[in-house]
Parts: sequence; structure tokens; C-alpha cells
Amino acid sequence: MVMGSMRQEAEVAVIGAGPGGYVAALRLADLGKDVLLVEERDQQGGTCLIEGCIPSKALITAVELAEAAKSAEKMGLIFGEAQFDTDALRDWKDSIINKLTSGIDSLLKRRGVEVVQGRARFDSNKSLTIEGGSVGGVDFRQAVVATGSSVIELPAAAGLPVWTSTEALQIPSIPERLLVVGGGYIGLELGLVYAGLGSEVSVVEFLPRLLMGADPDLVKVMTKHAANRLSMVMASSKVVGMEHSGSNFTVNIESDGKTDSQEYDQVLVSVGRKPNTSGIGLDKAGVEIDDRGTISTNEQCRTSVDNIYAIGDVTSGPMLAHKASREGKVAAEVIADHNSGFDNRAIPAVVFTDPEIAWSGVTEVEAKDQGMNIKVGKFPLSALGRAWTLDKPDGLVKVISDADNGLVLGIGIVGPHASELISEGTLALEMGATLEDIMVTIHPHPTLSEALNEAAEVAAGAPTHVHPSR
Ligand code: FAD
Repeated sequence: MVMGSMRQEAEVAVIGAGPGGYVAALRLADLGKDVLLVEERDQQGGTCLIEGCIPSKALITAVELAEAAKSAEKMGLIFGEAQFDTDALRDWKDSIINKLTSGIDSLLKRRGVEVVQGRARFDSNKSLTIEGGSVGGVDFRQAVVATGSSVIELPAAAGLPVWTSTEALQIPSIPERLLVVGGGYIGLELGLVYAGLGSEVSVVEFLPRLLMGADPDLVKVMTKHAANRLSMVMASSKVVGMEHSGSNFTVNIESDGKTDSQEYDQVLVSVGRKPNTSGIGLDKAGVEIDDRGTISTNEQCRTSVDNIYAIGDVTSGPMLAHKASREGKVAAEVIADHNSGFDNRAIPAVVFTDPEIAWSGVTEVEAKDQGMNIKVGKFPLSALGRAWTLDKPDGLVKVISDADNGLVLGIGIVGPHASELISEGTLALEMGATLEDIMVTIHPHPTLSEALNEAAEVAAGAPTHVHPSR
């Protein structure tokens, strides 16, 4: 066999094995479809597993553990100063990635999904060319585009040895002074990791505040905590120039009409991600993209071409793994003629800072901007027993509800395990729950989940552990 000359047929070709693509492939196989999954990397799992969600959370766990050890002194536990062995930390993080990617491999094998390594490009709406693989091309009846996204570069840093999140996750070194360009969730999570590892970290953000998508009252609790760990946060500021010489970066930052020059040992650029839609022949297949490169899809995840679907970061909406996976299931079900659609009411968002921030449904800012008639109930974690026993009393849970009928419209949380707590709120939103539904649901004591119950009570004007407002 001549490498790459063979063509193959598949009922469904899925391009990209991230949380969108591999989940779609598994579901398609379960629904009886003959599936071929094309992935250019030599591992499955995509950005999320290899250079995103999973490695970042592994590093955050290590840093949080060191922080917890520091603050345990008042509990009578004295550990001394934590020391990081960065080689061991990197090995631990990589071992998690390897374990999980081989788990996906085995799931795909056992479901009978054929995986082809190579880079796929559409020749038409029925065929793909595969570059660099053992298969030269694929003729398909239906296709799912799940090629994900890649980092947006900062023009001022073009050609300079700055880090992206991918390099930062490799812990190439622990710079003495690190500048993080971009105050979104990726920049903050990684900035706090490096602060925990010992770097002096500054953050520069173009917009007026960090994490613009989240409500300011939630972000405020996090920034108050982060103030001890971050050296400087520059909001409404812009990097307008950068030079690199020796091991030094000179960065020009414009703020309030003035430009200041600062020195750093490393710069981490985290200014957003763009969909991977160029160079994959979408035009040859007739698939339409908008001016930002995003593939337009309908509720069935169908593109402008009937037999081609798109899911995950290449489509509009938040670039999040769980949104990609849900869309993967929807596309698979639609292909298998099921009556399915992406009709979700809420996509939860989580920021794994300390404390964590999570929200789902409408935010308070969005509700007010849209002139919605809402009642908001906020419950501080300082009034919750479990938060004190965890030594984490800073935070709050809020429920945003329809003032007319008590329908739950949104949940916002800042505090320990917000990432886990948000799922109850998201279920409430999906099920069309009212404040009363949350209030009469018995929440176990003592747990952080009681805060959601209490916030619903506050919104309904019947609080237990805070004073009623008069
Ligand atoms: P991807 O995961 O990007 O997968 C696409 C795959 O397609 C890749 O493996 C790529 O190699 C392959 N591919 C691309 N082009 C081709 C081609 N032409 N032929 C063959 N293969 C191709 N999301 C969360 O929900 N929670 C988090 O905590 C979180 N943390 C993150 C942290 C970081 C540092 C980063 C960078 C991202 C994070 N994300 C997080 C976002 C998350 O990783 C993405 O939303 C998710 O991976 C998107 O899934 P996807 O399947 O659409 O694409």
C-alpha cells in the first residue's frame, strides 16, 4: 500500500477529536452509524484535554493545595513553606493527560469508531483529502466539522518569544516577573498559577474590568482575594508595543492616554481564540462562515450545506468544552434521524480562580440591560456554617428571578466549589424551576448547596439566615 493513496468510504466523517468531535463520534456509533474520525494530532481529546481545561485545572489544584497549606496554621496545622518540584508537577499533569487520552482511545475502539490521523480538507460536500495520514481521502455521506479554535496573536508581540496558554501549561520556567496580556478566564487562571509558583504577576486588560462576561459583584470578591497574589492589575489599558532583548521584555502599555514602559521576564498572551475554519476547504464544500470565521449553524447544528454539521468552538456561542460536547450529541442524533436540537436554556460558565466564579442563565447585568423585571436574592457565604468549616467564608450565591412569577432566570456564584454548585442552578434553569421549587427542596446540612436555597428565599422575601430587608 502506498502511504496516503488509499480512499475510504464512511457514512459519517467527523473532523477533529476534541470534546465536540469525539463525543459526536461515540454517540453516532451508539446510534448505529459507521463513523470515521479524522484527527491531526497523535492523541484524541483536543484542546480541552491536551492544552486547555485539564492541564490548567491540574496546575490550579497544586497551587491551591500550597495556598491551603499556608492558611492551615490557624487550624493548628503547620506545614512550613511549600516547595514546588516543577518537573514532578509537569510529569503529574502529563500523566493525567495521557491517562485520559488513552481512555478516549479505548472508548472509540470499543465503539468501533475508526480513527485516522491526518489533516482533513474538504474537496466537495461529499469528499475530504487527508494530508499526512495512512488514508489519502474519505468519501462521506454526512460530515461533522469539529476543528476547534486556536489562539489569537497580539500584533504588538508578533515574532517575539512570548507564551500562549499552550506554552505556559508546559511550565518552561518560572519567570520572576510575568505579564499576562488579557484578563479573561484563561489569562487569570494561568496568571494565578504562576503567582502561586512564585512569579510576580501583572495583568493588563483592554476592557474596563476583568472577566467582563461575569457580574461585577462576583468578580469583586475574586479580585479582592487575587490582590494578595497579583502584583498589579491594569484595566482599561492596552499593550501598544513590545521589544525583546536578552531575557527581557520591554512592554509599552497605554492607559488614560499615557504610555508607560515596563520590564518583564516573560509575557503570556491570552487575548482570545479564533475558530479553526481557514484552510480546510469549507468554500469547496459550500459551507458558509461569517466575517469572524465562525460557521453558521441552526438548532440542529446543520450548516448552510444540508449534509454537513458543525459543533464546538467553530460555531457561535461560548467557546467551552461542555457546549461542544452537547452540540456533538445533538448533531449525532439529528444525523441518526432523531428529533433533537440544541434548545438548552443555559450554558454554565466557570472561572477556576480562587475563589471560583460560576454563572448560568441570564446575568444580573444582562437582565438589567434588557429591562427585565427581576427580583435578585443574594446570600453571603459568611452566613453559612459549612463555608466557615471550610475556612472559606468569602463569597455569595445569587438567584435572579422573574419578578412576576418567580421563574428562575439566572444563578451566579462566587466561592469554593462554585464549579460544582452551578450544576444545580443549571438544572433548575433547564427544568423551568421557580424560587419555590428551590426553597422547598431539602438541601443537606452542612453544605455549600444550602446557599442556593437561602438565596432563593432572599429573592422570595422569606430569608432564614439573613435579616429580611424592610
Ligand atoms: P478542540 O478541543 O479545539 O478540538 C479540535 C480538534 O480538531 C483538535 O484536536 C485539532 O487538532 C483537530 N483539528 C483541527 N483541524 C483539523 C483538521 N483540518 N483535520 C483534522 N483534525 C483537525 N473549556 C471549558 O469548558 N472549561 C475549561 O475549564 C476550559 N479551560 C480552558 C483552558 C485553556 C488554557 C484553553 C486554551 C481552553 C479552555 N477551554 C475550557 C476551552 C475548551 O478547550 C474548548 O472550548 C474545547 O476544547 C472546544 O472543543 P472542540 O471539540 O470544539 O475543539
